[in-house]
Amino acid sequence: MTDAYILPPPPQPSVAVAGETRRFAVRRIFCVGRNYADHAREMGADPTRELPFFFCKPADALVADGSTIPYPPQTRDLQHEIELVVAIGKGGSNIAREAALAHVFGYGVGIDLTRRDLQQEAKDKKRPWDWGKGFDNSAPCSAIHKAATIGHPGAGRIHLTVNGAVKQDGNLDQLIWPVADCIAFISQSMALAAGDLIYTGTPAGVGAVVAGDVLKGEVAGVASLSITIAR
Ligand code: MN
Repeated sequence: MTDAYILPPPPQPSVAVAGETRRFAVRRIFCVGRNYADHAREMGADPTRELPFFFCKPADALVADGSTIPYPPQTRDLQHEIELVVAIGKGGSNIAREAALAHVFGYGVGIDLTRRDLQQEAKDKKRPWDWGKGFDNSAPCSAIHKAATIGHPGAGRIHLTVNGAVKQDGNLDQLIWPVADCIAFISQSMALAAGDLIYTGTPAGVGAVVAGDVLKGEVAGVASLSITIAR
């Protein structure tokens, strides 16, 4: 029999699902930029309600809860961004805001790790953000908790500690564009598919981490996540 592929297909990226032995196979990772006004302000942006914008990370940048990851190369300013993560269970195009939550399989908490110096250079030179955002191990993500179990969180504390000190502390009710809007907007530009994840943006308090730091994030009523930066 002839094999279909020259090289073996790459492993399927996936995340754990709370209460399940089976995992959630991940297709793409969409991320929302500047979705909390206080974070937009700290990044020097105008927090008025501009239309949302998006970027992507490769699915194989996912990192599981409890992992230790190396400090990435070519940066001196690796920063944490704690975010609510939405796992899409049913795809679609032009999904109406009112119907959007029916497309959600579940929710988790993630960290949009960012090489801020490379992102800033990209902004300054009007280049893509990929090198600042989509590097190896840049997408830590907790287990996904099913919406059928926890519901659809519209409010709740979202916070992150570094070595036990609170660095980011917000609430989901501060999202400029809530989950349903993000799904509606993305699906107007690209067909969403089962397996897609959406990192929904971060509240204020982003900052640098260094080798040896322990990052713990939590969205109340959803999930928690712990990641260590290797020494
Ligand atoms: Mn982010």
